[in-house]
Amino acid sequence: MTLITLLTCAASSGDQSRYTYLMHRPPLKHCRVCGTAVAYRLPDDGDTRERAVCPACHTVHYENPLNVVGTVPVWGEGGAQVLLCKRNIEPRRGKWTLPAGFMEMGETTSQGAARETDEEAGARFEMQELFAIMNVVSVGQVHLFYRARLLSTEFNPGHETLEARLFAEHEIPWEEIAFRTVRETLKHYFADRRKGNFALHVGDIG
Ligand SMILES: [Zn+2]
Repeated sequence: MTLITLLTCAASSGDQSRYTYLMHRPPLKHCRVCGTAVAYRLPDDGDTRERAVCPACHTVHYENPLNVVGTVPVWGEGGAQVLLCKRNIEPRRGKWTLPAGFMEMGETTSQGAARETDEEAGARFEMQELFAIMNVVSVGQVHLFYRARLLSTEFNPGHETLEARLFAEHEIPWEEIAFRTVRETLKHYFADRRKGNFALHVGDIG
């Protein structure tokens, strides 16, 4: 049975600067249909949110949160080690992360998480249950992590990754983790592993 843990991560102001996400989408400047400069205003249809509205063709552009999908790939006795990737791209180049990235059109969350794991780590693995859902409201993202069981310790990381390696809990470079959602997911993973029961964790971050 899956337990749902609700957590609210109220970051202190210090944490805010430390974990500021750098993947903000800039405001839309030009109409996606005709290229005219857009203006942010309330549309004429009674909508109560400001949208990017084109003054020429009147297209209203709706911008909605994006899904980031990834895995917690584990190896060893009871999943004692977790695979992390050292980022070769901005933001947070040189920091460690779980394999994850933006979901693409035409794929499910699980397929996207598997694709990112393949692209970033070149790992052989078997997908398991959904493990964490983190709302990152400040940047309009939802991060979803699945557990995955590694089938080999040979990794063939792609261009987005400098290095892919396994870490036991005591080896995790906590101060060098690229994103707060990854840090929280790793903490939940090792806590659940100690309990011998993996739950689904739902959290809100900033
Ligand atoms: Zn237009």
